[in-house]
Amino acid sequence: MSMEGRTCVITGSARGIGRGIAEHLGSEGANVVVNYRSSEEAAQEAVDTVEAAGGNAVTAQADVSDREAVEHLREVCHEAFGPADVLVNNAGITADKQFTEMSREEWDRVMDVNLGGMFNCTQAFYDDIWNAEEGRLINISSIVGKQGNFGQANYAAAKSGMFGFTRTIALEFAQGGSTANCVAPGFTRTDMVEDVPDEVLDRIISGIPLERLAEVEDIAAVVRFLASEKSSYVTGEVIDVNGGMDL
Ligand code: NAP
Repeated sequence: MSMEGRTCVITGSARGIGRGIAEHLGSEGANVVVNYRSSEEAAQEAVDTVEAAGGNAVTAQADVSDREAVEHLREVCHEAFGPADVLVNNAGITADKQFTEMSREEWDRVMDVNLGGMFNCTQAFYDDIWNAEEGRLINISSIVGKQGNFGQANYAAAKSGMFGFTRTIALEFAQGGSTANCVAPGFTRTDMVEDVPDEVLDRIISGIPLERLAEVEDIAAVVRFLASEKSSYVTGEVIDVNGGMDL
């Protein structure tokens, strides 16, 4: 249980990849803050799973695009476990449209959550991570941030923006010994890809050398490495977890 005693805040962790990360870290002994925006019941289920595995977890409602709400997230973390050692900026949304059809509101909404949420949460937990022994910032980007994707100009721009942000914070953190990295998943089996038509999914899978979508556990295992002290010489990197999609 080498995550024992490490306090990890995972945004958007009631469902999908975030939940996989929360349950993985929690079951290895971390104190986990399960942030959710609307999925209260699912967040409680994640807490129950962590506790059943012997870990400690609490829920914290907060829309990451709202600075005041993120302040509440920080307070919940501090009250339950003290300062955070690890922040995983996972909360993300899509609002897909072919570019000429994309509204300014759809652009802003995706920026507000994916980039604005990362800004708000990183700022709120910056001092915690700076001061932590082996502090870690882990941002969940996407292969779409590297390759682009039809109908996702807003999402691709946001996910790409995470790379520059992460490298910059990595430089700042380096002076204090903490690290910042991105994980860039390929297509992962969660609600986010639920609406993708089967024929499109089949086409996507046929382009993946490992011939399957990622499961949340594939992503959580890499985050778990980055969250541990074993990754202390890895910083400013983008770790691809995509079954070889970009080969
Ligand atoms: P998902 O199943 O749609 O879950 C998204 C999570 O984000 C939910 O728990 C949701 O919380 C939370 N969330 C959304 N907006 C939020 C906000 N404003 N404040 C707080 N939480 C918010 O998505 P996923 O597939 O697990 O994706 C997780 C991350 O991985 C995202 O950043 C996504 O871009 C990235 N990613 C996903 C894939 C993929 O193929 N699935 C691939 C590459 C990267 P509530 O349910 O409480 O609203």
